[in-house]
Amino acid sequence: MRTTRKPKYEIENVFPQLLNYRKMSIRLHPMREECIPSSDSKFGENIQWIVSDEWPTCSEHRQPFIPVLQIFKKDIPGFDFPTGYDTLQVLWCPNDHGEIYSPLCKAYWKNSNQVNSTSRVFSDQLIINNDYVVRTCKLNPESVFEYPSLEDLLLTNEPLGRAIMNWQQQFGEEEEAVYEYELSVADGSKLGGYEKWIQGIERPRCECDNEMEHFLTIAESEFDGGTFGRWCPDEYGDIWSVSYEVRRNIQSPLGIHLGDMGKIFFFVCKKCESLPTKTIFQCS
Ligand SMILES: [Zn+2]
Ligand SMILES: [Zn+2]
Repeated sequence: MRTTRKPKYEIENVFPQLLNYRKMSIRLHPMREECIPSSDSKFGENIQWIVSDEWPTCSEHRQPFIPVLQIFKKDIPGFDFPTGYDTLQVLWCPNDHGEIYSPLCKAYWKNSNQVNSTSRVFSDQLIINNDYVVRTCKLNPESVFEYPSLEDLLLTNEPLGRAIMNWQQQFGEEEEAVYEYELSVADGSKLGGYEKWIQGIERPRCECDNEMEHFLTIAESEFDGGTFGRWCPDEYGDIWSVSYEVRRNIQSPLGIHLGDMGKIFFFVCKKCESLPTKTIFQCS
C-alpha cells in the first residue's frame, strides 16, 4: 500500500468554491516487481490479449508495439471505464516518432472475458530506445481528490484563481507555490483527474469537436523537488536522505525517460462510439 501525505492546508475549507471543481484521480503508485501474472493489472510486458485481435505494428519502424500498462476493473473498481468495458490496455512503439520525441501510443478498451491469451514478449531484435522500455511494476491504486491548476482556474474562474494566488503569498518564498505543487493536481502516473501540465494546457479536441477527457497520465517521475512534500508517499519517509539509487527506483519506478521528467497524457472522447483516444507529450 502507498499513501499520499496529508495536505498541509485543507484548501477546500479556505476556498469552499473549490468543491465545484473537485475531481477524483487514482494514483497508480507503480512499484517494481518481477513476474506479475498476465491476468493482473500492472505496468510492463506480458499482458493478456484477444487471440483474434491483431497485435499493433508501427508503420514507421515496421515492428510490433510493446505492452506498457494493463488495467482491469476488478483491481481498480473506482475507475470510470467507458460503458461496456472493464479492461484498458496501453501499448507503444518504443522509439521517437517524427518531430515529437516520444513513443507512439495506442490505448485499447476491452472486455476481460475476451482477453484470454498471453501476449508474446518482445524480442531483442526490435529497434528499441531503452528510455522507453517499461519495467514490470505492480500497482498500488489510491484515490485522491484534486483541484484545478492555477492556469486552469484563471481561465474558468479568474477571481478564485487570483484569490488563491494571493492566499499562498502569505507563506513567503518557501511556499509561494504550495497550491500548485501540493494542493491541486496529483503528480505521477494516475487514472483520471486533472492533467499536471508541464508546458501549459494542451487539452485536445476530438474530430467531433468535443473536448476530450483526460483518463491516464504516464509519468517518468512520481514526484519532483517541488511536489515531493505532498506526492511522495508517506511510506518512504525523508526521501532526500536515502541513496541516489534507492531514490531513483522510488521516484521513477517505470525506469523510463520521457525527455526530461516528461509525462504522456491520454485522452478519450466518450461521445464517439469508437472511443477515439489521443495522447499529448510534454516535458520540462
Ligand atoms: Zn515506431
Ligand atoms: Zn468525439
